[in-house]
Amino acid sequence: MGKITGFLEFDRKIEAYEPVEERLKDYKEFTIPLPEKEMKEQGARCMDCGIPFCHSGCPLGNLIPDFNDAVYRSKWEKASEILHSTNNFPEFTGRLCPAPCEEACVLGINEDPVTIENIEKNIVETAFKKGWITAKPPLNKTGKKVAVVGSGPAGLATAQQLNRAGHDVTVFERDEKPGGLMRYGIPDFKMEKNVIDRRLDVLKDEGITFKCGVHIGVDIKADTLKEEYDAIVLTGGATIRRNLPIEGSDLKGVVQAMDFLGQNNRRVDGIKNLGEEIKATGKDVVVIGGGDTGSDCIGTSFRHGATSVSNFEIMPMATAERPEGQPWPFWPMRLRTSSSHKEGAERFFSISTKKFIGDADGNLKGLITSEVEWVNTPGQRPQLKEVPGSEKEWKCELALLALGFTGSENTVASQLGLQMDARTNIKASENDYKTNVAGVFAAGDQRRGQSLIVWAISEGRQAAHHVDKYLMGESALPLKGEGDLPRV
Ligand SMILES: Cc1cc2nc3c(=O)[nH]c(=O)nc-3n(C[C@H](O)[C@H](O)[C@H](O)COP(=O)(O)OP(=O)(O)OC[C@H]3O[C@@H](n4cnc5c(N)ncnc54)[C@H](O)[C@@H]3O)c2cc1C
Ligand code: SF4
Repeated sequence: MGKITGFLEFDRKIEAYEPVEERLKDYKEFTIPLPEKEMKEQGARCMDCGIPFCHSGCPLGNLIPDFNDAVYRSKWEKASEILHSTNNFPEFTGRLCPAPCEEACVLGINEDPVTIENIEKNIVETAFKKGWITAKPPLNKTGKKVAVVGSGPAGLATAQQLNRAGHDVTVFERDEKPGGLMRYGIPDFKMEKNVIDRRLDVLKDEGITFKCGVHIGVDIKADTLKEEYDAIVLTGGATIRRNLPIEGSDLKGVVQAMDFLGQNNRRVDGIKNLGEEIKATGKDVVVIGGGDTGSDCIGTSFRHGATSVSNFEIMPMATAERPEGQPWPFWPMRLRTSSSHKEGAERFFSISTKKFIGDADGNLKGLITSEVEWVNTPGQRPQLKEVPGSEKEWKCELALLALGFTGSENTVASQLGLQMDARTNIKASENDYKTNVAGVFAAGDQRRGQSLIVWAISEGRQAAHHVDKYLMGESALPLKGEGDLPRV
């Protein structure tokens, strides 16, 4: 344990943000790291609990008290080894994870929890700065070939683990560059893309082959891939967007969030010829959907110079505190306010969009909403009811649909004869990630549905173990909760 009285002496402190007017000038990350002394004090707050509930809260089973203690003692290299033993990419989760570990932290019962996520980010950034993160190619090769389809966090984690086991791994990605939603969904102000590139350099030096601009199922038929490789892992994400099929949804100015975000991230990356420009500049913007995607649309719209940004959420406003019935250490559905929300967005809850209104040229000029309430009847699912007389017209020239994803694409699945589950994701058991076709595995959002980066990495690691076992009869690749300490 760090400092026995640490949790009594030090308050929770996390990195600050640059002022809004400064950070809106560009797409760069805007956090201001804590000085090392304060970072160590945050590590010292950890109580090294007999039963560390943070472990069970973390989908990766990160060894949290161990790296907290190492940070408190200034043993940063040791902290990095511990962290990397369960998490291939802490620089992604240290920036982007909603930190279920912190919601499960024992200190959170009556105090502010330990700043686990921020400690994680500081460990990995120190490790990169000091040059401790270097390629570790496998010592022995097995001669087996594995194809990973999709290069989001699930595909990258699968690839690194299988490469460590000595297999020849090729990652196929249809986009221009690897990274999945971290590259062409999540904006640079949340994670600059050199953070992905830096890690990709390590993976390439370890021997992983990346083939970008290759759409499996279209450019190469999935059954051809199956003939050429000993195993295939499908990590293509859950990419089918939910629509809003109401009057006016075909107007110019009603745009899917992913088209808006994807184009912007490509523009920031200097990619040209992106088709018709989708910009929020000088517009009244309405972002429909209150999740992470909606929040990213808000921050991007402000950086474009939107006149106003309103955010609609169909659910009622949650409380900032844990709601009743969702006690510690469970993940609570509480009100979350992102840095983008704080950049000037107005949020509206219990509101439903009924109709988009256009001008004579087919351009969006407004929309009509009504207030809604959820009616609970015992034995039935909650029903959505419109509040009579609550209709309202809003001025709006850009409406961004951030309504979530309904499942994954099925081209590859149908070419391989794979079964899908009820939510149109690929059916594969959480026990071994095997599909109904021998040698074909699925992991990440394409298996579990749209989720989180931390889950994608976790699934990628777990799937790699089972692929290795399928190819070799046994596997030394660690499962959740089993760290592989020597690897960094
Ligand atoms: C806008 C947005 C913001 C988000 N913010 C956060 C956040 O802050 N924190 C968080 O934890 N999570 C966040 N998420 C969720 C998170 O990004 C995903 O859960 C995670 O990226 C899933 O990883 P994955 O590897 O399973 O799939 P993805 O990241 O979706 O990657 C799949 C990749 O497969 C490729 N692909 C698909 N089919 C094929 C094919 N047939 N051939 C070749 N390539 C193919 C795709 O092009 C894509 O690059 C966000 C999601 C969105 C949309
Ligand atoms: S639950 Fe919190 S205080 Fe306890 S070991 Fe984990 S991080 Fe430390």
